[in-house]
Amino acid sequence: MKWYIINKLHCQTAHVLRIWSLKALVIPVLLIAGLTYCLQPDKKITIVDSNSTKPIEGAVVYFKDDRLALRSDVNGRVRIPEETGTTPVTIQAKNYRSREYTLDYFLENKTVTLHYDSARVNPVEKKFHFTREDTLQGRYGAYRSNNDLLHYDLSIKIDIEKEHLSGKNTITFTMLRESDTIQIDLFKNMHVDSIVFNDQNLTYQRECNAVFIDFPHNLKKDETHSIDFYYSGSPAQRGRFGGISFQQDSLGNPWVFTACQGTGSSMWWPGKDQHLDEVTNMSLHFLVPSGLTAVSNGKFIEKEKQEDGYTWFHWKVHYPINNYCVSVNVAKYTHFSDQLDDLSLDYYVLPYHLKKAKKQFRQVKPMLRCYQKHFGEYPFKKDGYKLIEVPYSGMEHQTAVTYGNLYKNGYLGRDWTGVGISTKFDFIIIHESAHEWFGNSVTCGDYSDAWIHEGFGTYMEGVYVECQFGYKAAIDYLNGYKSKVRNRTPIVGPPGVNHWPTQDMYFKGALFLNTLRHVVNDDKTWWAMLHDLHEEFKYQSIYITDVLNFFNKYLDKDLKPLFDQYLYHTELPELQLKYEQDSVQYRWNTQVNNFNMPVTVQHKDSSFFIYPRTEWQSRSRNPENKTLNVATDLFYIDVEVIE
Ligand SMILES: [Zn+2]
Repeated sequence: MKWYIINKLHCQTAHVLRIWSLKALVIPVLLIAGLTYCLQPDKKITIVDSNSTKPIEGAVVYFKDDRLALRSDVNGRVRIPEETGTTPVTIQAKNYRSREYTLDYFLENKTVTLHYDSARVNPVEKKFHFTREDTLQGRYGAYRSNNDLLHYDLSIKIDIEKEHLSGKNTITFTMLRESDTIQIDLFKNMHVDSIVFNDQNLTYQRECNAVFIDFPHNLKKDETHSIDFYYSGSPAQRGRFGGISFQQDSLGNPWVFTACQGTGSSMWWPGKDQHLDEVTNMSLHFLVPSGLTAVSNGKFIEKEKQEDGYTWFHWKVHYPINNYCVSVNVAKYTHFSDQLDDLSLDYYVLPYHLKKAKKQFRQVKPMLRCYQKHFGEYPFKKDGYKLIEVPYSGMEHQTAVTYGNLYKNGYLGRDWTGVGISTKFDFIIIHESAHEWFGNSVTCGDYSDAWIHEGFGTYMEGVYVECQFGYKAAIDYLNGYKSKVRNRTPIVGPPGVNHWPTQDMYFKGALFLNTLRHVVNDDKTWWAMLHDLHEEFKYQSIYITDVLNFFNKYLDKDLKPLFDQYLYHTELPELQLKYEQDSVQYRWNTQVNNFNMPVTVQHKDSSFFIYPRTEWQSRSRNPENKTLNVATDLFYIDVEVIE
């Protein structure tokens, strides 16, 4: 409370000072307005499309002086913190003309309209068509945002012969707003058997893959409730990884596995199939034919043999977990374990791969040591770390990383970045495990911001290379990714539609982080900042604006132009050079106004920074030595020499 009052006083003083120079008659009026404004709790504004007046999600309100970026939510709403002063504000959104305001504008106006500009739409994205189904799954709508998940208790019987699931999810949640409806998701081809609340069957409406559940009365704000959601059906394989697949190992034994990233977890179990809200912890139970092992997330608790030829496997996740990380793998696995200090390492592989696995998985300990050194303690210590063999390449399932890289180095045996380094390690172990920090522990609030998973995950491969083989190898490795960058669509995709963004979020996303490291130009600060970023946001769902705000504050810099150019535009920043007789001129050619980024150049025998802006600048040079060598391996940019 004390802090609150001090903060108010600070705000009032700021307002009084600001209006001091104004005409005497106006002062009292403004003073009242100022006080009224200051004494209000945080103020909300709504950003809408000028034509349709529909809210715009993912718009960014940027307070230039405070270097603070705020993202509008699904209702187009942004909460303006009271401590922001009179700072100029820019409001921008994908495909819209940006607008500038002073903060005073919001004293009178609660709604901001942005004008859609079709010329700004990326030609590839122009061809995207999103359906009602995409929106229901991707949007954090009213019947999702009215509650906060606490716990899932998921039990599923897996009938392998019939490729059929039947089960129950007990979903515990706290209401954030009074309401008599919540949205739970289950794909439309799966059957809702019943939904039970306090011994009463609930009614529900299904639309696409959403189930809108009606309660007999309003559930009040702050109340905690549970429902038992019973379901059954045969999931249809779909998406990048099949979602859930019923296959066999090479000896003809059953092999069932799930990987539903992008498609959605609700293709095989009912839950809140989104990214913003994670349960605090989760219990998982799988009933499978005896003789097979069901391996899931978290800690193995026990197995219980039934009389009917089936065995229960109980697992417990002690941490928040995102929906697509929930996974089960059923096979005739053999298990071996190890220990890294007090962290348990468990491996589940096909018995005939045991020898290869024991050799290949020796890479786990140095990898974990490297990531712990740079990003902090393994975030799921109570649950331990697992690798589980599967017949697809792999997936970052939390504490149950699935592995299918054929026990070979590189990516499925290939030199993945083509510079002779990725053959020195197992790409899947290194990449998928990196997601334990970024992807699983820190999760994006919406897929449009999945750079937080994949840009960081890919960059962490480079971090591993640096731990094992040194800085130069890391730079070479990351630069090997340049050949995979397309620059056709922006890294940040359309929000609210469950759309998995372009692959540039991996490769260009990692090269952007490599660029930022060299902008920071102080490794101690760089590593400390990445470590603290994870520490600050672990077990949370966040947006790119949160990363930007954290970096800006940490570095006392304004990185917004860099984030904008690399993540919201397709073109790389282009450094233009013009050589004169005894000078060189340089400037940035970028889509973002006021782009300014230092770059390292080499001239004669010395290397130094230049600080180009979007206007030409010049510095003297020795006419004997014509060229300025730009460190394009440290800064991912284009260089254009203008004749
Ligand atoms: Zn990944």
